[in-house]
This record gives sequence, C-alpha cells and structure tokens, in this order.
Amino acid sequence: MAASITSVKDTRLFRDIMRISEQRKGNKPSKEPEYKCDKCKDTGFVAVIDDEGHERWDNCECKIAKWNLERLENSGINDYIHKSLDNYTVKNPEQQGIKKLAKRYIDSDSLDNVILCGGSGTGKTHIAAAMLIGKIKKGRSGKYVSYKDYIRQCGIKARARDSEEYARYFSIYANTSYLLLDDLFKGAEKGKEVSDTHLSYMYELINYRYTKGLATIVTSELTLDQLVSIDEALAGRLIERAGRNIVQIKTIKNQRLK
Ligand SMILES: [Zn+2]
Repeated sequence: MAASITSVKDTRLFRDIMRISEQRKGNKPSKEPEYKCDKCKDTGFVAVIDDEGHERWDNCECKIAKWNLERLENSGINDYIHKSLDNYTVKNPEQQGIKKLAKRYIDSDSLDNVILCGGSGTGKTHIAAAMLIGKIKKGRSGKYVSYKDYIRQCGIKARARDSEEYARYFSIYANTSYLLLDDLFKGAEKGKEVSDTHLSYMYELINYRYTKGLATIVTSELTLDQLVSIDEALAGRLIERAGRNIVQIKTIKNQRLK
C-alpha cells in the first residue's frame, strides 16, 4: 500500500518525532526553544483540517513567504523592490485613480495588460513596480526589464551564431506570467527613430505574450497615439488585452524636480 502524507498516522509520527526532538533540546527545561517561525517550528509544514475533516500537511506561510521573496529577488526589480502602493504619494484625484486601479489589479487574478503613459518623473514606474511586486507576493511569476536593457541584451545575444543564447534570454521574459516592460521605446520621445531590428525584438516578445495570454505591464514616456504610430500591430496587441487598464498620466508634474 502506498504511503500517504495525508494519513493521520504520519501526522502522529511526525508529532512524536517533533516531541522527542524538543525533549532532547530541552536539556535546559527553563528555556523555550527558539524558532524563527512559531507556527511550524521551522519545519515548513503545518497541519490543517480539510473540508472532509481529514488532517493533512500544508506548506507553512513562512515557507511560502520565503519562496515569494526568492521569486522577487530573481525578478530583476532590485532597484524598485521597496515600491508599494503604501508609499505611493497621492496628492490629487488622478493619483487616487491610478492607485485604485493598481489595487484592483493586484487583488484580482487578472492577466490583462496594463499601459501607463506619462512624462518622466510622474511615478509610473513606481506604480507599475508595486503592481508586479503585489503579484509576485501573491505567488505568481514575474519579471522586470527595461526596454533599453532588453533591446541591448537581444542585440548581444542574437549576434552569436548559436541562437540558443537568444532563445534562452527571450524565454525568461516571454514566459513569465507578469512582465513589467519599463520605458517602452525610450528615446523615441526625443524624436529618435526606433530601428526595425529593435521593433522586431519587441514585436516578437509582445506577440508571443499576446498569444499565450500573459500579462504585460508597460510604462512609456510616449502617448498612446505615439506608441500606435511607431508600431500599430505591436501597440494594438498591448491595447487589446489592456481593457480599462490604460492610463495617460496628465496632471502629475515631475516629482523629482520638487
Ligand atoms: Zn513556518
């Protein structure tokens, strides 16, 4: 008969082991053993009773938090890791609305896109980072990459004769549930033309994510109209799956200049 971790017997056995182990540590009975997590006593598991009244083992929230933290540390969001909705300053109705949208997005299981357009220093990366971090903390996979870095890396990887390197790099950003693509078409707001090569890198990524139904959170200093005029098909795919999550930040002045 196959052993099952859900059986009560295992649970008792586990408890007995725990008890004996605690007794052994208890050479100094006056001192309580110190655990980082009192809920699971650092085992990573907690006993729960399911709907049918059976006892089973579940991952402790400390273990899930550790996984989420690792995912966050590997997401590439390092520079913005402390951005949250709590430390997003709200001074006017527009910021209020943006914060509300972000909160709704994090709370839902939506895999819709988000498009945040606005000038430099309008806090769009802050709010986008908070959204990505919120999703990762809920256990979803997520990555951050700036448009500039992505394009630069693609240029390096694609030059190699063996395109496996490019495929591997592409896959990191193509297959994550939530991708924050920061500062899309950076440089074009100053009139710099976007090269066909750069457009093709971007289109490949956006189109792949579009067909897979994965969420892309985009920030850009360009307006929505400008994004469309640069690449209609690419912008169209982003817009189609963004629904109500399109924001053109208007009233917020550059906060970094204050
Ligand atoms: Zn725990």
